[in-house]
Amino acid sequence: MEAKLIDGKATAADLRARIQAAATRLIDKHDLQPGLAVVLVGEDPASQVYVRNKGRQTQEAGMKSFTHRLPADTSEAKLIELVLSLNEAPAVHGILVQLPLPAHIDASRVIAAIDPDKDVDGLHVVNAGRLATGRKGLLPCTPTGCVILARQTLGKLEGREAVIVGRSNLVGKPLAHLMLNENCTVTLAHSRTRHLNEVCRRADILVAAVGVPHLIKGNWVRSGACVIDVGMNRIDTPEGKTRLTGDVDFEEAGKHAAAITPVPGGVGPMTVACLLLNTLKAACQRHELELERYIDLPEAAQGI
Ligand code: NAP
Repeated sequence: MEAKLIDGKATAADLRARIQAAATRLIDKHDLQPGLAVVLVGEDPASQVYVRNKGRQTQEAGMKSFTHRLPADTSEAKLIELVLSLNEAPAVHGILVQLPLPAHIDASRVIAAIDPDKDVDGLHVVNAGRLATGRKGLLPCTPTGCVILARQTLGKLEGREAVIVGRSNLVGKPLAHLMLNENCTVTLAHSRTRHLNEVCRRADILVAAVGVPHLIKGNWVRSGACVIDVGMNRIDTPEGKTRLTGDVDFEEAGKHAAAITPVPGGVGPMTVACLLLNTLKAACQRHELELERYIDLPEAAQGI
């Protein structure tokens, strides 16, 4: 493999350390400890792991972590009642409802109940609208992490061809807006895109957010491209175990790309770091404090 490895784990650890220093400053100067509430409904094993990790990393960053675990048969009304009470809680600056929710609950109605200024997942339609219209708001965490990694690798992204495969509300669509804000020329590809291989080959920055293991082949990657793999797919190993793999054929793509994220250790850790950054941002906004005065952000994370 010739490509440089984009070390999301190290970048995320650096970002978390800066967030922790900022949280300490807020506590010392304003007696303000940023707080993140995470709500989990049901017992989905993967969600339980994610929620545990978020709680641990929130505490390690010097913030207050509130975890609400509700049984799988919780009604939508009960869940919305909890969200509304968290909206009013002064110690809670960020609210995250872990997805997916059980089938009897309409996730969009639950997200709509979150105060947009506490919506640290950036999924509320108000925040989606703010992003689409170029106004300030809380940004979805995974796309923000992708932009930070691309900027760190390439410097200014202006004028580059960004091809994003996948158009979900969670990743692809917000990332397209963020890349537009970076003055990239953006192509948003999806399952109905014709000649996907040729479309991908146009990319200076190729982002895969699909959920299909190794969909992106090595020869779909333009020579010298920066490849960011958002995919997190569990596949069976010949030894009868499971392992995590991305949407990109990592080994083959690495022969063409100039830089590539591994899975795991690429985008994944950035998502949680950006969640903590959003919580800090939300706490500062709530108290009319200027975030930039408290956190020393690396260049790649400034002004997104
Ligand atoms: P999603 O909601 O299922 O969306 C998948 C997108 O991929 C859709 O837009 C779909 O197109 C497109 N697609 C599916 N098959 C395709 C194909 N054969 N060719 C081209 N496009 C295709 O998924 P998501 O929530 O965005 O997540 C995508 C992946 O990222 C998953 O593996 C997920 O686990 C991972 N993820 C990782 C993180 C992280 O922190 N690292 C965070 C979020 C998600 P249509 O719209 O036409 O159906």
